[in-house]
Amino acid sequence: MTGRAVRSTVECGRCGGAVRREVGQFVRWGRLGWGVDTDCADCSVISCEEDWGPAPDSVRRVLLAEHGTFAVRPVGSAVSGLALLRVLREDGTRSLAEARRLAGELAGAGLTGTEVEMEFLAGRLRLHGVAAAVGPVGAGPGQASAGR
Ligand SMILES: [Zn+2]
Repeated sequence: MTGRAVRSTVECGRCGGAVRREVGQFVRWGRLGWGVDTDCADCSVISCEEDWGPAPDSVRRVLLAEHGTFAVRPVGSAVSGLALLRVLREDGTRSLAEARRLAGELAGAGLTGTEVEMEFLAGRLRLHGVAAAVGPVGAGPGQASAGR
């Protein structure tokens, strides 16, 4: 299993104590997932939210702010557009039109997202015979909003 998490301390909604909170994305059993764990030592409130598929914006924002934005793009000259489309379609979270648009972007400038999302996508591409490179975008989190 691979993953990235951001730990922080927030105030407990029930007792006002310090809650350890962990927000993350992971790849497990070949699938992309996300989770939010909170654990209050004072009143023993423990909650664990976890699901498969694309993470909610609240989770992605935390990871992008902490670890920065990453990009993935195919490398090499003979990239099969059909393979790109298949990879983007196989998890069932995108419409055909959306997958086509993303496949076009992927073949061009590449796609961006969190490190775990991009590593996951690169892994799927490699499974379909497409070599892919993943790397950080820009100079770091501080630059994330530049150019918009
Ligand atoms: Zn508490």
